[in-house]
Amino acid sequence: MRRPILAGNWKMYKNITETCAFFEKFKPLVATSTHCDIVICPTFVNLQAAVEATRDTTIDIGGQNLFWEKEGAYTGEISGPMLKAVGCKWVLVAHSERRQYFGETNEDARKKIVAALDAGLTPIYCIGEKLDERQAERTHEVLETQFHGGTARLTMEQFSRIVIAYEPCWAIGTGKVATPEMAADAHRYIREQVRKSFSPEAASACRILYGGSVKPDNIRGLMAQPEIDGGLVGGASLDPVSFASIVNF
Ligand code: PEP
Repeated sequence: MRRPILAGNWKMYKNITETCAFFEKFKPLVATSTHCDIVICPTFVNLQAAVEATRDTTIDIGGQNLFWEKEGAYTGEISGPMLKAVGCKWVLVAHSERRQYFGETNEDARKKIVAALDAGLTPIYCIGEKLDERQAERTHEVLETQFHGGTARLTMEQFSRIVIAYEPCWAIGTGKVATPEMAADAHRYIREQVRKSFSPEAASACRILYGGSVKPDNIRGLMAQPEIDGGLVGGASLDPVSFASIVNF
């Protein structure tokens, strides 16, 4: 049985006051929610406040990105050990906005995944097709390339510590959610790639999240699909009541 994960990606939203106010409201709403891992990924500057606000709760904090070197002359970058030291347990890798606006490649993602694992963080590796790629019926090809590019040369042990998020780009922040069947088809295809590259056991253990306009009113339908192991939630994770109702689907 794969334990569900509900993760919130706050992107470039919320200052420190807003971060603390969120947790004040959110904590009591999920105080008895033990059925899943709950993760919030705030901006770098609010990580410490988020870690402090969630101490003695089951809410975990994650970064939205990391650089693959541990330290050095890389102005503006943050390393895995730095995220770990501040109290993060998770980190997003290659979110589609990182790919789109910052040119991140599958090879960058691979190096970031290894760096996250080396730092003791759980990377959530994001993959997903663009609208024109889906329309051209290239979804499987894109998922295959991104999956194999990002996970190349990982050992079985390393792979067992990563999480995949299937996020069709056309569904992110658009209000257009993939139907549960569409998402499940993509998840099945990704799981098949895990089986091919790693093993049948790795495929059945791998947690694959769906992301793209997840809201309180569509999470149940998505989670009813056995292939879907949770959600990576952008917009709807910014409001404590809305994200709590997603967590408590
Ligand atoms: C995301 O940021 O990963 C995301 C899926 O955003 P949204 O839920 O707003 O579509």
